[in-house]
Amino acid sequence: MRIPLIAGNWKMNTTVEEATSLVKQMLDDLEKIGDVEKVVCPPFISLVPVQNLLKGTDVLLGAQNVFYEEKGAFTGEISPIMLSGICQYVIIGHSERRQYFKENGEMISKKVSAALRHNLHPILCIGENLTDYESGNTREVVTDQLLSSLSGVNRVDSITIAYEPVWAIGTGKAANGKEANETIKLIRSLIEDKYGKSVASNMRILYGGSVTSSNISEFVSQVEIDGALVGGASLKAREFVEIVKQTAEIKRDLLQ
Ligand code: PEP
Repeated sequence: MRIPLIAGNWKMNTTVEEATSLVKQMLDDLEKIGDVEKVVCPPFISLVPVQNLLKGTDVLLGAQNVFYEEKGAFTGEISPIMLSGICQYVIIGHSERRQYFKENGEMISKKVSAALRHNLHPILCIGENLTDYESGNTREVVTDQLLSSLSGVNRVDSITIAYEPVWAIGTGKAANGKEANETIKLIRSLIEDKYGKSVASNMRILYGGSVTSSNISEFVSQVEIDGALVGGASLKAREFVEIVKQTAEIKRDLLQ
């Protein structure tokens, strides 16, 4: 059985003060919701202050990026050694990093391997852009991104994949739940071909792209979709709590 996961990607938003205040606004409510793993991913400089607030709770912490080297002359980068012990998750290969920072499959697969070596659970993001979607190339692009991002990665049991169509991220135009479910089914079958049935059936695969409390049910009611990576809506305490709450209820109902 896969435990659903809702992760909030705060992107480059919130000062340290705003980040701690946001956590305080949602923490009590999040703690009351069981059967869902809850993760918040603030900017790097807020990880430690937020870690202090999350101690003793069941809300987990994630970073938004990591470099693949352990230390050295890489000005401005943060290594997996620095993150391990502070957070449990790390988002890798987000489309904004692919687009603005030119991250490619080779870099992303190195980051995934480095994160795993230091006991960080990667949330690996893949997804097609609008041109690919409109020309019917979703399956090819997603297959290519998945395989290149996992090239040379042997241990995938603690990886979560986030299928995030680029055209749905931050646009207010979420994908269609059934269509996202089909793409996620394809991702699971590719994982099965490469790593076997048991790894594939245990792997959590999330949907991401303009998720809100008004549309989360469309996604988590799909059998292949194990939760969501939430951007904009995760910056509003009430919205994020509501997304987590609905996910718990819907997944519980599906199990019965
Ligand atoms: C994201 O940042 O991964 C994301 C899905 O953003 P949004 O929910 O704002 O579309």
